[in-house]
Amino acid sequence: SDRGLVVSFGEMLIDFVPTVSGVSLADAPGFLKAPGGAPANVAIAVSRLGGNAAFVGKLGDDEFGHMLAGILRKNDVATDGVTYDKGARTALAFVTLRADGEREFMFYRNPSADMLLTPEELNLELIRSAKVFHYGSISLIVDPCRSAHLKAMEEAKNAGAMLSYDPNLRLPLWPSAEEAREQIMSIWDKADVIKVSDNELEFLTGSDTIDDATAMSLWHPHLKLLLVTLGDHGCRYYTKHAIWVKLQNFKGSVDAFRVKTIDTTGAGDAFVGALLNRIVDDHSIIEDEVRLREVLKFANACGAITTTKKGAIPALPTEAEALELI
Ligand code: ADP
Repeated sequence: SDRGLVVSFGEMLIDFVPTVSGVSLADAPGFLKAPGGAPANVAIAVSRLGGNAAFVGKLGDDEFGHMLAGILRKNDVATDGVTYDKGARTALAFVTLRADGEREFMFYRNPSADMLLTPEELNLELIRSAKVFHYGSISLIVDPCRSAHLKAMEEAKNAGAMLSYDPNLRLPLWPSAEEAREQIMSIWDKADVIKVSDNELEFLTGSDTIDDATAMSLWHPHLKLLLVTLGDHGCRYYTKHAIWVKLQNFKGSVDAFRVKTIDTTGAGDAFVGALLNRIVDDHSIIEDEVRLREVLKFANACGAITTTKKGAIPALPTEAEALELI
């Protein structure tokens, strides 16, 4: 395709979710496989909307790893950046939303293959051909794969890609909240575009009020676009850039679509995938508030549609579905 390439870097894993809703993991009568991992979801979101996407990451050389690669290929996501670890196994998670509203997680990660990607294993040719390089793994900013992560970011950036980051915070994966915050902030100022949820904004700033000042306290000097997603309240955007030495900046919000929500898993990834699908071929959208708002409306529609079906990957919309909702 003649579309610019979005390369999404990070983890792909299988969530095992109870066959019935509202139970604890221990009480589940059985589990269904739900393939996911935020960066993989984003790659598939971009592709399902008609874009050109590749996934870079490491899987186990096992049944689950090959199953996941097959899902990428079936969704027209390039897998020439996928490597397999001979020893470690594919990451797995057991996840449930209990009746009391609490999420319960259990991870197989001791360590899993995704955490063992090394800089030498990176497909640099692929990474250098990215027009957008996206990353957003939950726990791949710790060694040994941290150095692969940093190298991939640097190679993409030096080759002219726009860098996009979604921290995808899942606290149970971290020894402490402080460590999670430190790791996220350690790669914060590399990105051109950052998307956080309202919860992540609270966590990262330590503030319990979500306002413009709180969001802007996360701004870094060469950031171009900061997005805060607000679930069924849509999203807020913040930009700041120089045009002919005059500093331009604008901010605002874009309303969500009203839909019949069943399962919000993957909404944020659909949102990011839709945004990247649009800005990959025209980075200047970010500097034009009218066009940016159009794109964020499209991204909100994609997020909303994803909440109307169970799971993440099966629920990601096509362009026709998104345009119909709009
Ligand atoms: P994350 O998954 O990162 O927490 P959100 O849950 O905020 O992100 O969802 C991302 C986007 O998806 C939102 O900005 C919104 O446009 C859309 N969305 C999410 N939940 C709903 C909902 N219940 N109804 C309509 N749109 C939603």
